Amino acid sequence: MADKPLAAVPAPPSSSHPAARLLRSEEELQRLPASERIRYRLVTADRRYHANDNIADFVRAGELGELKKEVEAKLQEVLKALVIDTDGDHNTQQTAMRVAKMYIDEVFAGRYRPMPAVTEFPNAERLNELMIVGPITVRSACSHHMCPIFGKVWIGILPNEHSNLIGLSKYARIADWVMSRPQIQEEAVTMLANELQARVRPDGLALVMEADHFCMHWRGVKDTDTAMVNSVMRGAFLKDMNLRREFLSLLARKQER
Ligand SMILES: [Zn+2]
Repeated sequence: MADKPLAAVPAPPSSSHPAARLLRSEEELQRLPASERIRYRLVTADRRYHANDNIADFVRAGELGELKKEVEAKLQEVLKALVIDTDGDHNTQQTAMRVAKMYIDEVFAGRYRPMPAVTEFPNAERLNELMIVGPITVRSACSHHMCPIFGKVWIGILPNEHSNLIGLSKYARIADWVMSRPQIQEEAVTMLANELQARVRPDGLALVMEADHFCMHWRGVKDTDTAMVNSVMRGAFLKDMNLRREFLSLLARKQER
């Protein structure tokens, strides 16, 4: 990511590709704010950049620092629009900077940073029994209100002899990477399932996520007891009712402890 040359090589002006209309030289790009530069690379590469997409491949060295400055300046404008005296009120003097840092470095870091390194091991022992990982505590934010989501994820894996195994702690790291973006719970579990499917390649994969959405507690109906549960079942978990039942009953028992 950091050292890759810019994908944007000047194309003939006659090119009919929609991106061609936007083609800019490296010098022009350098004069733009970092967010515009990154967006330019995404658009010319025809890549989606929704709130829950990872865009690390399009961010160059040093640009996260620039992004933070940009976000800070915009948040300062939000505080101003909220008629908060950030000069006189010592509590809010550094708020724009703190929130910008929190977004880019912490709660939304899963958008801007590459996936944590995960070592995969061949299934030398030919394990083929149901494995359950969890509960993994996950933190996210809803993309509708940017309110926190706190929850737990359980993962069921039915490996075969060709599956790759990954260390237990790595499940939590991949989950954290996927969840540290503005998310929608249904999409978050599917994204996590896709990442695990691609790496572990099991016969069956099951995921259950149960989470509290603070946009339900803090605003709106102010309901304090609603938790949302989502599940994804793939492969053997779809076909084999007994396996699914075994997973769900082990999960219930783990939850009681
Ligand atoms: Zn929400």
